[in-house]
Amino acid sequence: MDVGDEAVIDRGGLDALIAGLRSTGFRTMGPVARNGAIVLGEVAWSGDLPLGWRDHQEPGRYRLEQNQSPELFRWAVGPASWKSEFFSPEEVVWRTSTSDGQVTLTEPDEPAGPIAIIGARPCELTALEVLDRVLRGGDVPDNRYAARRDDAFVLVAECGTPAGTCFCTSMGTGPSAGTGYDLALTELVESEHRFYAQVGSAAGAEVLAQVSHRPVTTDDRSARQAVLARAEAQMGRSLDTEGLPGLLARNLEHPRWEEVAERCLSCGNCTLVCPTCFCSDIKDVSDISGAVERQRRWASCFDLEHSYLHGGPVRPTTASRYRQWLTHKLSTWWDQFGESGCVGCGRCIAWCPVSIDLTEEAAAIRATDGAVAAGEGRTS
Ligand code: SF4
Ligand code: SF4
Repeated sequence: MDVGDEAVIDRGGLDALIAGLRSTGFRTMGPVARNGAIVLGEVAWSGDLPLGWRDHQEPGRYRLEQNQSPELFRWAVGPASWKSEFFSPEEVVWRTSTSDGQVTLTEPDEPAGPIAIIGARPCELTALEVLDRVLRGGDVPDNRYAARRDDAFVLVAECGTPAGTCFCTSMGTGPSAGTGYDLALTELVESEHRFYAQVGSAAGAEVLAQVSHRPVTTDDRSARQAVLARAEAQMGRSLDTEGLPGLLARNLEHPRWEEVAERCLSCGNCTLVCPTCFCSDIKDVSDISGAVERQRRWASCFDLEHSYLHGGPVRPTTASRYRQWLTHKLSTWWDQFGESGCVGCGRCIAWCPVSIDLTEEAAAIRATDGAVAAGEGRTS
């Protein structure tokens, strides 16, 4: 098998594929239905995946239901993103120990074995690539993140059932897989439960070659196209990206920022569920023995302290912090990294406790673009 090859496997083939990855030392992780949500957990076989579960998502709402469907990937995205496996929400960077008056710095051990992701969505893979440019690229890469990503195996599950909050089509990140995966599967259920497999890397080719598979037929190809077309037609939301970075940049004083701030709680949920937010805080903690631990945890631009410079925070109001969040995702990310900071996963919409929807906010500003003179409606 080679990169670009395609084949069809059944559920037994998927099990053999997972077993093959585990036998070569991978920790196989994937989506699992637990405590009323699709979260990330160990996947030892296909039965650990969310069999028959479907999610329903709208602004401020998330609900799961299960039926008798044999489908394993009949949901969109859960609250947890793959970011957390490569860039931990909270971790020790190093700790000191003292022996014979000598102080030694040690880094904690990594979990045994690289990670194999079983069933990332195309938008989630794009989100990892966005994070790569921040944490793996550049002059000062995050070594731990880079090592975890370098060793990872990524199996993408193309999306057939987007949620009401999804807008990946607008962002060009789904529902089909682009590049960067090792293997991509499309789940097909009519007439026969099977998976359309595409090879994206030499590692993917090696894994697929070892499991029972058959050639792709015209019917398989048509079925995959139908799944993707249906997903595009069912996309819950859209975002007009035409000229969006410039639109937001020239509307920094728009009164909409104050209007949304009347609802926004500055809770930071949107930043925590976002698969591309990368801000973190560093804290040094010491104990009575004199040992010191450097800890890193995710931070949010909605925290008042986040913009603290000498003398006080430069974004003291909720309006200024919401503006920072939205304009960074959709506008200034382009200046920094040459791409959007949003992949259209919709998590920030579903998990906002007051149903704030960034597609709606961007559309509202577009609708009154130019109606506000500079200097009016100041937000900080
Ligand atoms: S901004 Fe919202 S929709 Fe965009 S990637 Fe982040 S969580 Fe997903
Ligand atoms: S937009 Fe929603 S999720 Fe984000 S800080 Fe405001 S209230 Fe919280």
